[in-house]
Amino acid sequence: MTSPSNSFQASFSGYVKNICPKYFDYCDDGRNLEWAILRKYPEFKKYKRNKLDVNEKQISIFVNSIYQKNNKIIRKNLDLYKKSWAKLGKDYFVLVSQIFGDYKWPLGKYIVYLTIWGMHPRFLEDKTFQIPFRHKNEKYINVIIAHEMLHFIFYDYFYNKFPQYKSNKYNFFVWNISEIFNNIAQDSPQWIKIFKAKSMPYPEHKKIVNKLKKKFYKKSVIIAKDLIKEIIKNKDFLPIFAGLTFGVRYAYINIIKG
Ligand SMILES: [Zn+2]
Repeated sequence: MTSPSNSFQASFSGYVKNICPKYFDYCDDGRNLEWAILRKYPEFKKYKRNKLDVNEKQISIFVNSIYQKNNKIIRKNLDLYKKSWAKLGKDYFVLVSQIFGDYKWPLGKYIVYLTIWGMHPRFLEDKTFQIPFRHKNEKYINVIIAHEMLHFIFYDYFYNKFPQYKSNKYNFFVWNISEIFNNIAQDSPQWIKIFKAKSMPYPEHKKIVNKLKKKFYKKSVIIAKDLIKEIIKNKDFLPIFAGLTFGVRYAYINIIKG
């Protein structure tokens, strides 16, 4: 595989079967649950214990009702997103190869699901991810696709070149590196020229991102290994035990384990 081709789906059954169960694991508590589900669908608050106490049938009925209600817009946007990504895809893979050199994309399904939820975790083990079925800024959809895809090659590359971080105890550390890495790559002048939109940093990464942007944007291209090493060198900026991201840490472990 030189570069993967994405398949876009608005399949209700595929989404409910393949995405939703993993998604509810991801939203175990705290910020993820708030951002991903409760802020958008406050009616789920009544199920909140430590995590959401809902079964697959309840989820399936709920998703179905949203899919039914928005059927037209889902179909329309599916088509729109596909076409819009098709235009950018070629440039995207060139940008990625500037960063990763001839490193190969990992094998996987590369299926993009249209989602009703408010966050878009990617699932590394089968290379599936999500984009919102509706977004106020359509340009931003391509930024999300680029972001999630970048995670796939990043993680593969990272564990290959830095195997010392393979242990579970580093999951949260590596997650931080991957988000900072993406943010710096996606906001670089070369990427902005193609995507016409910036990515959104996690609030806790703003400091290190700003520091490294100054350094890396002076170079004509960003090289993956250099950027990763520099992030690790600045690891004192990373929120290792920050209460705010505690939920993300466990969520991430869930995703890695699938
Ligand atoms: Zn991310």
